[in-house]
Amino acid sequence: MPDVLNGSIVSGLIDHNTGMWDLAIIQDIFTTADIDRILSVPISPHHEDSWYWYGDPKGCYTVKEGYRRIIGDVVNPPGTYDRWLHLWKVKCPAKWKIFVWRALSNILPTTTNLILKRVEIDPTCPMCGIYHENVMHSLVLCEYSRLIWHESSLHVPSVIDDDFNVWFRNAISVLNKEDIFVMLAVLYHIWRARNHAVWDAFLPVPARVWWMANLAAAAWKQVHGTQQPQQHVAHEAVAASAQIGSPICHFDAGYYPRTKSATVRAVLTTQIGDFIAAFNARLPPCFSPLMAESLACKEALSWIKDRGLAAITMYTDCSVLKDLLVSSSSELFSYVSYSVDAIKALMSSLLSCSVVLIPRTQNQGAHTLATVAFSQEAPIVQLAFWQGVALCLKVFTPLVNVLYIVDHDKKSSMGFVYGDELM
Ligand SMILES: [Zn+2]
Repeated sequence: MPDVLNGSIVSGLIDHNTGMWDLAIIQDIFTTADIDRILSVPISPHHEDSWYWYGDPKGCYTVKEGYRRIIGDVVNPPGTYDRWLHLWKVKCPAKWKIFVWRALSNILPTTTNLILKRVEIDPTCPMCGIYHENVMHSLVLCEYSRLIWHESSLHVPSVIDDDFNVWFRNAISVLNKEDIFVMLAVLYHIWRARNHAVWDAFLPVPARVWWMANLAAAAWKQVHGTQQPQQHVAHEAVAASAQIGSPICHFDAGYYPRTKSATVRAVLTTQIGDFIAAFNARLPPCFSPLMAESLACKEALSWIKDRGLAAITMYTDCSVLKDLLVSSSSELFSYVSYSVDAIKALMSSLLSCSVVLIPRTQNQGAHTLATVAFSQEAPIVQLAFWQGVALCLKVFTPLVNVLYIVDHDKKSSMGFVYGDELM
């Protein structure tokens, strides 16, 4: 750097009249490669500088985020249970989930585990007194446990492996939410019965263990209410918007992290799903998927406003963006905040604008077509193209939904695939 530039600051590279980078100064000082990098950084001279924790969408430091930075992402060793999020999301007493976490981590004090820790005890199962006790035997294979499962009438998977992790993974794949809730109650109470056998030399009859589990489940539900799947909320919102009668806009962003390039795709339909119009375009470079989603929303709303619409219901599958848009606080310190502010300004300029969160499966059409914009140099304006898209969406959306469900982390049985598709 030339001596004359010592002490210079970044604001010297910005034209304060236009609020943009001063291209002439940048071209004088930097190489071509650096010029492109500098110009790709969005600027907003009207916002004051503030501290920002990189890696958090809100720019706020948390101990959790700091820990992740130091430790890195958790990588599950092969063969271990890896669907913890699914387990933590189950609405049930925390002690049931913690118990299942201990079982899946194989840290329950079964006789086999205690002997491995060099505790001198009798290795036989305290319930049946025949086999050596491990987690799978205690909770599933033991004759006593089998009788409790029989009492419950739950359609738990048949045993194909002596591995509790495999059994549990199969169980949560085939059972519905209500049955998973009951299954966790039964697992917890089987272990309680086992502890009675160890510490009190007393084993309740299987029917009583099932009765206790069922009673605990019913009591918890009575206090905490029934489980409310997220999709119900979306459906209620759909019903509310149907009363208003405003058109619906499905929008989505395409994002390539490697090149930081992003696109927007929006489809406008009537309440009953008839195609009205569609729009796609490239977005400025984005630094995160959330930034791409927020810019996509801003561009989609601008497009809707340009069409002269005064009321709209925006459908997104990005829960973070939806939360940001319905939140009144503005504690966001990142590039995302600029587009969120712009979206809120656009929303307030319409007569009516609501944001509805929908499952990713219901936004697959918009998501798939967002990627089309990567290969387009300019927005597609021919009506014939978009009419063809509307037809394609009607024909292929069910197929894309089924492929998504099958390819998803949650491996559903065909019955569930059919059920999801009907929703
Ligand atoms: Zn046993």
